Amino acid sequence: MPNNDIILSVNHLVTAFDTEGGRIKAVDDISFQVNKAHTLGLVGESGCGKSVTALSVMRLLPKPAGVIESGQILFNNTDIASLPADQMHEIRGKRIAMIFQEPMTSLNPVHRIGQQIGEVFQLHFPEMGESDITTASLELLNKVGIPEPEQRMVEYPHQISGGMRQRVMIALALACKPDILIADEPTTALDVTIQAQILDLIQKLQQETGMAVIFITHDLGVIAEICEDVVVMYAGKVAETASVIQLFKNPKHPYTQGLLDSIPRLETPRKTRLNIIKGMVPGLTELPSGCRFRNRCPHAMEICATEPPPSMQVGEDHFAACYLHV
Ligand code: SF4
Repeated sequence: MPNNDIILSVNHLVTAFDTEGGRIKAVDDISFQVNKAHTLGLVGESGCGKSVTALSVMRLLPKPAGVIESGQILFNNTDIASLPADQMHEIRGKRIAMIFQEPMTSLNPVHRIGQQIGEVFQLHFPEMGESDITTASLELLNKVGIPEPEQRMVEYPHQISGGMRQRVMIALALACKPDILIADEPTTALDVTIQAQILDLIQKLQQETGMAVIFITHDLGVIAEICEDVVVMYAGKVAETASVIQLFKNPKHPYTQGLLDSIPRLETPRKTRLNIIKGMVPGLTELPSGCRFRNRCPHAMEICATEPPPSMQVGEDHFAACYLHV
């Protein structure tokens, strides 16, 4: 029986890339759910598969190298992993939208901002006339807190600041009132004050529109601030899933514990060395057998080298893939 609170359900997703050295799995058998109107944080170090997961959901994997090898991505109970390209075109941008870390990679540098927003309306709502599009574009720019929207409409992306460009990206993503917004490190390139403003804006818009948000970040501080649910990824696998409260109060996976230990805290005396997780995330071509975290794990045991650990329930809606809990 489908759970009506779930808008997106990723089940046993495997996404692979064909390389000169053969096929490698960047995302290997991951599962998680996103609830309607909730914010889910996808967290982990660089190279853990967060962005590949997002690109798989958007069906924007680089072609021909990237493929969804198996698994399901159920959006409102429709499997979009196997949807024909023309039907996915109807969903991408309209029902599921995405914003990226660097808006300049998505904004067209030679088109005025008004024109770029107008194109989104034209593409998804061909029945809209020119004056309706202008009114809707101005409304959107207002909504995302861009001052003097009439002036911004005739400017080019390079004429506005990085924070304003990110707001324009959010406006483009929200033009069709999506059910899900995927935000891939949208604040990483911004200074802290602007970062806080953009996080506030995403939260405010989410409350207004009721959309679900998947927020991808390596920053647990951001997760604590805006997420309700968290998925911790490591080397293409899900290490732990929990509510944000459980994850911070009672982390069960040694990788999550290591990430939390490496956050600077106000109560820690100055000049205290932070506990950082030793070693690096292994490359996808040199993964250890069994648990992928075992070369860095302070609790590694013999069994950890055998098979990848299964995901175990460790609390209410709390799962960890670790032999300590088997
Ligand atoms: Fe550490 Fe073993 Fe758990 Fe992996 S399965 S996180 S190596 S204890």
